[in-house]
Amino acid sequence: MLIVQKYGGTSVGSIERIKNVAKRVASYFDKGHKLVVVVSAMAGQTDRLIALAHEVTDDPDPREMDALLATGEQASAALLAMALKAMGYPATSLVAFQARILTDDAHGRARIDEIDSSRLQKELDEGKIVIVAGFQGINSQGNITTLGRGGSDTTAVALAAALKADVCEIFTDVEGVFTADPRVCPQAKKIDRISYDEMMELASLGAKVLQIRSVEFAKKYKVPVHVRSSFNEKEGTMVVEADAEMEKIVVRAVAHDKNQARITIRGVVDRPGIAAQIFDPIGQAGIIVDMIIQNTSEDGITDITFTVPKGDFKKAFNIAKEAANKIGAERVLGDEHIGKVSIIGVGMCSHSGVAAKMFKVLAQAGINILMISTSEIKISCVVDEKEVERAVRVLHEAFIEEG
Ligand code: ADP
Ligand code: ASP
Ligand code: MG
Repeated sequence: MLIVQKYGGTSVGSIERIKNVAKRVASYFDKGHKLVVVVSAMAGQTDRLIALAHEVTDDPDPREMDALLATGEQASAALLAMALKAMGYPATSLVAFQARILTDDAHGRARIDEIDSSRLQKELDEGKIVIVAGFQGINSQGNITTLGRGGSDTTAVALAAALKADVCEIFTDVEGVFTADPRVCPQAKKIDRISYDEMMELASLGAKVLQIRSVEFAKKYKVPVHVRSSFNEKEGTMVVEADAEMEKIVVRAVAHDKNQARITIRGVVDRPGIAAQIFDPIGQAGIIVDMIIQNTSEDGITDITFTVPKGDFKKAFNIAKEAANKIGAERVLGDEHIGKVSIIGVGMCSHSGVAAKMFKVLAQAGINILMISTSEIKISCVVDEKEVERAVRVLHEAFIEEG
């Protein structure tokens, strides 16, 4: 079999752990598998590098930031290859320009456009174990790019798609995908099989166990993804196409995301083109707006509220203030202390009363809902940041433990 494996930051977090990963990789090789192994930077290293950059300047140049961040993955790839070679195995490490992982120009959140797998294929044909530095790519000018936080997952799935691997194994610090973040909800259970669509919602609603783009790739190219622990041999979670069995379950998982902030523009004149004047400049600044709510207007005056990632709050707030001035809105309010809880399940589209039950459960727990958004397979509520974790637990109890 051709297997692409990915080991996350905690799994390669120390030399001892890198040696353990080498042993695991070697055991697969001994069974006759061809292996491409993607690694993350050692745990905490990406954060350390970001902090160093911010010691140099408040506003680091994006090209240089990527050049800096990519070193974390380069180091762990070389260390793992060294460990394997020291054990007598034929390993070689490749960074993005060698593995030909080609991306667009969006530094810090680049998208993979294409992978030219000829070099990788050649190394595999020569019987090598190929270790690839995750999270990084090169753009058309040959500059180093990075794929956004958690991006090594995407490197792995994209390589699995390009090489038509039999499976992509994501080794991490939990035993699979759980019905809620096991660190927040001790009752959470491992899910054996989850559909690409449910996993995509889970990832986009805050469960960082897989980066969302990795799931998009997996779905598009039908790559079977196996999320499992790097600390034991247990089977984890298979991310696969939905089947009838899965649709019987109404709520598959609860997700949460504390990385949210809210901006309200008060006293907006309700006329065509106003929303565009607010959200155009925000979009141009590369800020992703999540929920948007516009109240029904009274006397032609309305409020618009929206949410953005916490890291973009200051920038978005200033842009909103400028736009508010231009359109003659009354004032702009901000709240950085909010979070989002969501319930997810493909079965939701064929069941009624799910939203009502969610609101009732939160109300009974005395948790105030600030905003609501729904799609066919999820319902999200924005609540006070302090209530997020408790909201996860009460929703998990009502929808998953009690069903
Ligand atoms: P890695 O470094 O291996 O990429 P991450 O920290 O990015 O690992 O992702 C794994 C973490 O995701 C877990 O430690 C867990 O706290 C978190 N997580 C959030 N939601 C879930 C979930 N539903 N199932 C499993 N893990 C989850
Ligand atoms: N090292 C990067 C990060 O911390 C990428 C990854 O781990 O997937 O976000
Ligand atoms: Mg990760």
